Amino acid sequence: MKHKEIIMACICDYAGQVRGKGYLSGLGETGKPGGIGLAPTNLMITAFGDIVNSPWGSCGEILMMPVPETEVTVEFISEQATERFVLCDLQELDGSPWNCCPRNWLQRGLDILENEFGLCVNAAFEHEFHYSGVPKRLGNAYGLDAMRLQGMFANTVVNALQANAIEPEMFMPEYGPQQYEVTCAPAIGLAAADRAVRLREIVRSVARNFGHKATFAPVMGVGMVGNGVHLHYSLVDKSGKPKTYNPDAPHCLDSDAACFTAGILRAMPEFIALTAPSAVSYERLQPHRWSAAYNNLADKDREAGVRICPLPKLPDTDPHARFNLEYRAADATANPYLVLGALVWAGIDGLKSKLKLPETMLGDPGVLPEEELQARGIQRLPTSLEKALDMLEQSERLKAWMGNEFHNAYLVNKRSELSLLDGLDPDEQVRRYAECY
Ligand code: GLU
Ligand code: MG
Repeated sequence: MKHKEIIMACICDYAGQVRGKGYLSGLGETGKPGGIGLAPTNLMITAFGDIVNSPWGSCGEILMMPVPETEVTVEFISEQATERFVLCDLQELDGSPWNCCPRNWLQRGLDILENEFGLCVNAAFEHEFHYSGVPKRLGNAYGLDAMRLQGMFANTVVNALQANAIEPEMFMPEYGPQQYEVTCAPAIGLAAADRAVRLREIVRSVARNFGHKATFAPVMGVGMVGNGVHLHYSLVDKSGKPKTYNPDAPHCLDSDAACFTAGILRAMPEFIALTAPSAVSYERLQPHRWSAAYNNLADKDREAGVRICPLPKLPDTDPHARFNLEYRAADATANPYLVLGALVWAGIDGLKSKLKLPETMLGDPGVLPEEELQARGIQRLPTSLEKALDMLEQSERLKAWMGNEFHNAYLVNKRSELSLLDGLDPDEQVRRYAECY
């Protein structure tokens, strides 16, 4: 008997969780359904799977519209069914974009960047995660033995990424026990965020096939090393020509890229609830954890909020093609469309107001006196999700960029998530996030 295949039509929700509905391949004349109905309140499912509160209740109807170029197929040698899923835009019944769709929010920002400034973003998300299929052996940080221990997992992951045109570049053991990192080539605009969502799910799928679990939670234990998502970005013009490197400018940063980055640094404390959106994100975003605790800029410091990635000065390296910056305060509890969207909307604001780039610094900003921090425009990032959500709520910028309905829906969703943690100690909170991501 020939089996019909089930394709999951999915969205990445506000908690970065991928959820959806399965349909049978070959449906309709084009082989794609014309749109799958969804209740807006589906977006109010919290990270932990419960709906606590919703601005829409049981009312309303939106459509999941599959985006064919995001389709993923992961074939397994074993008996396990082929995994197939496709990402969707969320639309109104008349086909217009739904105001509260994360993918569309990013698209709206990208359109402004391109139409008003002639610029596009080239971006790549680096992912750290834990793989349960290896023992926690002492001394294995970055170790060849840690690579050996994972067996066929890494090869299967990179082959599946390649088969889905995600262009994997590196797979390496990371610092923590059972921790690995996978990177892929940059892509322009929406495709970069699509890649991040597809990559996470491919890694999870392969881990499940090996009878294990890949966990992308920001931390796996209180006080332990974090799993970061570092977003590398540069600007290109409409034809794809790099527009970031200028050897005559401070830090070799071309003027548009400097304004764009200044905008990101300025708004970072206000939008951090979009890029580090879970209670345990703030366990990771602490000084001396090699993540980011301030909205500071550095060129050779892996604890900066934004890092200007230094270039090797070797013959045969094209600085224009390689030069990029790295936003370090994101993790995989964040929706990649919201992470890139926050950077794009903040960058546009920086370009519009021709914002000056702050000075770079090395080392812990926490040792500087308060007046100097203020003079440099450096702020400690909010230290809890609660505080980050308060800043998001009060931010006129974010309200304007997101629109009131989306801004409010996001706050309701994230505060609902927090309410589910009431009374739980930090270890139990970490455990729950690790189970869900
Ligand atoms: N694991 C660190 C983080 O939480 C990053 C380490 C690195 O620079 O690769 O972001
Ligand atoms: Mg790393």
